[in-house]
Amino acid sequence: MLNRLILFGFTFAFILGSENGKMDTLLSPITFAGTDFNLVENGNSSVHYIWLHGDEKTAKMALDHHISHFPGRAFFIQNDNREIPYLSTIIDPNRLFSRSGSYHSLKKFKPYWPPGTLKKALDDIERDRIEFLEIIMPKKDGILISVHNNFRGYNVKYELKFSRKTSIKKQQNPRDFILCTHEKDFEKLANGPYNVVLQDTVIKRDNGSLSWESLRRNVRYVNIETRLGYLTKQKKMLAFVSETLN
Ligand SMILES: [Zn+2]
Repeated sequence: MLNRLILFGFTFAFILGSENGKMDTLLSPITFAGTDFNLVENGNSSVHYIWLHGDEKTAKMALDHHISHFPGRAFFIQNDNREIPYLSTIIDPNRLFSRSGSYHSLKKFKPYWPPGTLKKALDDIERDRIEFLEIIMPKKDGILISVHNNFRGYNVKYELKFSRKTSIKKQQNPRDFILCTHEKDFEKLANGPYNVVLQDTVIKRDNGSLSWESLRRNVRYVNIETRLGYLTKQKKMLAFVSETLN
């Protein structure tokens, strides 16, 4: 694609929604909780993609391939592990999209925090989250598509209890599935060959993942989950989602 634009870790200030309207050419990095993200842009589209777990390399390769063929804006975390370094601990970046999720994530590998420090960390992450979501969330009627891989046991069956509608295909591996938050999207996706679940009901104590925050914001969100190593499968599922939802 000729109009493909690659911005390594930087975005222009006007993407950040600068209020005064002037075309500020200063570059500012896209970061979340101290970790950088690269932005790859193909044309002008309100379809956004995100790769959040640095160890899920198949998902990264699939998205890298996909964004060179389909219009949209893709955000890639710059990290090699599932968790990102934060202060003196590590945290899961896909557990930071609610305060309670952030709390559990901060305590997971560091149970004890000196008085006041945990609250400060939560406040800092909250400020970061607001800015980061401003950048990654698509504009109205856009879609946010995330890509993930699983390694061992995790599969669609774990999501059934949170799902209001499901479409499970016998011929599909339960570890390859699509999760979405809008019923109209579900109806279209369920007609395809893949496992699909609809999660459109906000739960009280969510785990802080991006899907729940998207649901709270009424943003159309789609997660494409495949087994690690199944690159062709994930590319096909990405193409299917992009071609089916528009
Ligand atoms: Zn993941």
